Amino acid sequence: MMAQYLEIKAEHADALLFYRMGDFYELFFDDAVAAAEALDIALTKRGKHLGEDIAMCGVPVHSAEGYLLTLIRKGFRVAVCEQLENPAEAKKRGSKSVVKRGVVRLVTPGTLTEESLLEARRHNYLAAIAEVRGEHALAYADISTGALHVMSLPLPRIGPELARLMPSEVLVADQDQSLSRDLVTDIGAAMTPLGRSAFDSTSAARRLCDLFGVQTLDAFGSFERAEIAAMGALVEYLEITQKGRLPLLQPPQRENLAGAMQIDAATRRNLELTHALSGGRAGSLLAVMDRTMTAGGARLLERRLSSPSRNLAVIHERQEMVSFAVDRSRFRGDMRAYLRKVPDVDRAMSRLALDRGGPRDLVALRNALAAAEEIAGLLQGEALPEPLAQLAQDLTGHDRLLNLLDQALIAEPPLLARDGGFIADGYDADLDESRQLRDEGRGVIARMQAEYIEETGISSLKVKHNNVLGYFIEVTATHAERMLSAPLNETFKHRQTTANQVRFTTVPLSEMETRILNAGGRALEIEKRLYDGLKRAVLDEAPALGQLARALAQLDLTTALADLAVEANWCRPKVDESRALTITGGRHPVVEQALRAQGNGPFVANDCALGDESDIWLLTGPNMAGKSTFLRQNALIALLAQMGSFVPAANAHIGIVSQLFSRVGASDDLARGRSTFMVEMVETAAILNQADAGALVILDEIGRGTATYDGLSIAWATLEHLHEVNGCRALFATHYHELTNLTEKLARVDNATVAVKEHEGDVIFLHEVRRGAADRSYGVQVAKLAGLPASVIERARIVLDALERGEREGGSARDALIDDLPLFSSRPPAPVAPPRSSEVEEALKSVLPDELSPRDALALIYELKSKL
Ligand code: ADP
Repeated sequence: MMAQYLEIKAEHADALLFYRMGDFYELFFDDAVAAAEALDIALTKRGKHLGEDIAMCGVPVHSAEGYLLTLIRKGFRVAVCEQLENPAEAKKRGSKSVVKRGVVRLVTPGTLTEESLLEARRHNYLAAIAEVRGEHALAYADISTGALHVMSLPLPRIGPELARLMPSEVLVADQDQSLSRDLVTDIGAAMTPLGRSAFDSTSAARRLCDLFGVQTLDAFGSFERAEIAAMGALVEYLEITQKGRLPLLQPPQRENLAGAMQIDAATRRNLELTHALSGGRAGSLLAVMDRTMTAGGARLLERRLSSPSRNLAVIHERQEMVSFAVDRSRFRGDMRAYLRKVPDVDRAMSRLALDRGGPRDLVALRNALAAAEEIAGLLQGEALPEPLAQLAQDLTGHDRLLNLLDQALIAEPPLLARDGGFIADGYDADLDESRQLRDEGRGVIARMQAEYIEETGISSLKVKHNNVLGYFIEVTATHAERMLSAPLNETFKHRQTTANQVRFTTVPLSEMETRILNAGGRALEIEKRLYDGLKRAVLDEAPALGQLARALAQLDLTTALADLAVEANWCRPKVDESRALTITGGRHPVVEQALRAQGNGPFVANDCALGDESDIWLLTGPNMAGKSTFLRQNALIALLAQMGSFVPAANAHIGIVSQLFSRVGASDDLARGRSTFMVEMVETAAILNQADAGALVILDEIGRGTATYDGLSIAWATLEHLHEVNGCRALFATHYHELTNLTEKLARVDNATVAVKEHEGDVIFLHEVRRGAADRSYGVQVAKLAGLPASVIERARIVLDALERGEREGGSARDALIDDLPLFSSRPPAPVAPPRSSEVEEALKSVLPDELSPRDALALIYELKSKL
């Protein structure tokens, strides 16, 4: 057995080998040590290899999924090795034969399909990066839903796209490993290197044609060589990990970089689109927006939010659908009630295709088809906008399959097909007959118990069943004597004695058992055959069912967005090719919700008016006034508008934004070991180098990470560059008031400020954005709000006052003023010790220069010098 183990392990050196032995998966050697630690389970020993103890640990097969999940999360890959025959078959080949085993599947982060290993509302992507003659491409697939996408892109765009998709595993060519490592580890994905041959575009094309059953890939559009190579690597890897069983992949969809708003990783983080800065989903825009009813709808929402469109037609089409649902509250309510019943079609299909499914997946499909029919009914008779009419069509045409599943399956079947008991009565005559025999047998056995009680006079006698003995008669030890002696011992044959019980059998009981077993076995066999038939019927319809799943997800997202728009009072934005970013009554959806949840006053809505006259707003105002909030809310409104949603504003007019950039000064990035200022500058450089005229840039306190004048100069030059060279729209928040004068020099820059009110020395935040510059920064007042001791505040006021006066009167005057400042006053000045004077000073004090002769003077100098 060890020889077999080592042979299999050699083929899977980079994975933990789960070696099936009966009811356990066992791990040996280093695998055992690593797994025992990762899973916190006992490490034991079994036998010796080359004179050394063999380390071993194991997990029960029935609870293996949980352990798998932990291992995958901790970055391991697992090769699952099963017994391919039962021990009896092995024996037939020879008494010493080892049961045949083989790896049936490699479990890796990017190739999961089990419900318990996946997040229902999130995609789980496997990506591949390929390079052919200097051209790069990125392909990605979610095998749990069958989605397959590919795009060509320049090398620098790979990072941002990976940040959008957040794949859990990325395939790269062996020779490109060093190039890709940072890209991949930055997003926390596992990197899997593959040999060069996996990326060969010629064999990749063949592999893809075979997979989709076409002669040429032209059927799906035209692809670059690098794109084909990337998809080929994906498919090859799926073949390796799934051991030849391929998941249901949809034909590849080619993505166009220019079709989507470009958002880099830092901007995504900063705007907290799908993850909050704290790491989790809570507090992100996604979490606040998500009102979808189905897992498919939730995944679509995340996709749309991560990739807002730049295509006006697409945006208008989506808006049209949301508007339709906004205007019809009854329709919306009904639709959402039906959608609530829709299970995850995509993932059920994927499990069935990989033969990892069960009766519950079939039932999920039946329920989805039934719900789809009801939803289609709801859409009937309405004058639907074109895109909705199309979706309505995708929902229908499955009557035959629905009927079949409806008749065949019971309502709530068990998990596993092999346990049987999921096919409805009356569906198959043979099955009904076998089940009847089996059940009658069970009835007969119940009657036998009554007869045996009468015959023996032991009222506590029971007929029981277990997997080892089958059916048996059980009495307590006190009655053993009677049973074992004449005449009862003629009928009752002893089988087993346990601590408290004695067990027997009889000839009629074993005969009955055989009949039940036969009938039960036959029933199981029939059910298995019927299951395969139903599975095939479903998989035959895979493309149409995929279409249906997509239609349901879109309807779900549409009505979820409409629900949100109505309840949170969002408006339909006007989106066109202009340069407008004109928003009245805009709000930050996440801050607004947080304020409401905390019962902390209403959110103050604000206007933004970039476009006709000005490209850039320079926003000043004290800390805590609401500058960052204002900046971000406008970026989010543009993003929401382009994903096709309504937006949190009274009115909005958005000219298509091509790229979105958001940066915050001096954010810490200690994890990557760069100084905060360095990060700030690297990120600012990226914007100045990349932003085109269609970009929207929000910069929050850029230059904060260094000395005042350095920071001011950098902020100054950055603003000029955005205005003169990039020509983009921008919102620029700063605490350098000096910058406000720039509006006189730069035609398309305007000043705005977040208003505060001063009341008896305190500052009151109004959170109102107004045109014009802030008069001062109120830092001292804000510090007071933060609870700095009164004496420190008082002192700061005096210093500030002196500094400001000095500013007006010039540098040297300021220094003098600072020198003149009375010392920190709330503590009594420390007693000052009289300064001690040196010997030289003492000597000099007594000297009367006018009375010194030149000779004495010279002597004095010698004397003084000697004292030094
Ligand atoms: P700044 O960037 O000027 O330091 P922030 O944007 O971080 O200020 O806002 C500080 C706090 O003020 C926020 O956490 C929020 O609670 C509150 N706030 C900001 N904008 C508004 C608003 N428009 N209405 C109500 N409260 C707001």
